[in-house]
Amino acid sequence: MVKVKIDVEKCTGCGTCVDVCPENLFELQEEEGKNLSQAVAEDQCFACRACEVKCPERAIEITGYQILKVDPPPEYPPEEGRFLRGNDYSPVALVAILNTYDFKIPPELVKLVEAAIESGAALAGTLQTENIGIEKIIANVVANPNIRYLVLCWRESQGHLPADALINLVKNGVARDKRRTIIGAEAPTPYLPNISLEAIERFRKQVTIVNLISEDNPIRGMDPKNVKKAVWSCIQERPTEFMDYNLYDTGAWPEPPICKKISMKITEPWKRELSKEEAEILERIKRAASKKEYR
Ligand code: SF4
Ligand code: SF4
Repeated sequence: MVKVKIDVEKCTGCGTCVDVCPENLFELQEEEGKNLSQAVAEDQCFACRACEVKCPERAIEITGYQILKVDPPPEYPPEEGRFLRGNDYSPVALVAILNTYDFKIPPELVKLVEAAIESGAALAGTLQTENIGIEKIIANVVANPNIRYLVLCWRESQGHLPADALINLVKNGVARDKRRTIIGAEAPTPYLPNISLEAIERFRKQVTIVNLISEDNPIRGMDPKNVKKAVWSCIQERPTEFMDYNLYDTGAWPEPPICKKISMKITEPWKRELSKEEAEILERIKRAASKKEYR
């Protein structure tokens, strides 16, 4: 039987486990003036291990489960793109930010992607945009429940800010508006309207981001040695320290794959609801065009 053990000496009452547990098994309870996490319905735990991986204090231990690996469906990966496919049973995928034009991809970036596959990643490729690019990653990741980590590397793209958008997506999710705006993202258009909320929420629970990108240490995310070490750490059976992370193969997310292509509503932009600002700009363009016509 699955057991959820919480080390009260380490627990700071941050509430991360309360947020990430899909079965709502945690509650914060006050004890001696301190908030501590308690597992209130341990028998309902299905050993997804999201709490264990995401607890910043490493205070949770899940025991009494068998590590799960699943066959991805035949249609996997549902989306095409600039990525390589490696070991389908690996718990890790690599996302390298593309901060140049796609016809100018530096050979070092290609080598980084190849290094990840050689080190055992399930998928490894580039991310260019903070909207459709992220939607394609979500579609391919939730189609393979074995993928539990995304290693984020290379350098942030200052135009699209896709790394910031991806990190905020996993941390905060999306607003319940028609554009599904990523909460907290600073990117200019961080919208995910072409993929289901179910897939977005599954993605957020299924993966943990291992972020190698750092403004203070730009070389870190570009060094193949770091990428290889990150991928290697994610596939270890035993908890392995890597930077501030505690990485190991948690097994597959214990729910069926969601294997669907994104539905490109963006190809019909007239069907997208415009923001107030966009509507005003459109109105100004129409007015200017009509004046020109009758001059
Ligand atoms: S995530 Fe960890 S530190 Fe935070 S409340 Fe839960 S057990 Fe405590
Ligand atoms: S392993 Fe998953 S289901 Fe079990 S307590 Fe942790 S987050 Fe909840």
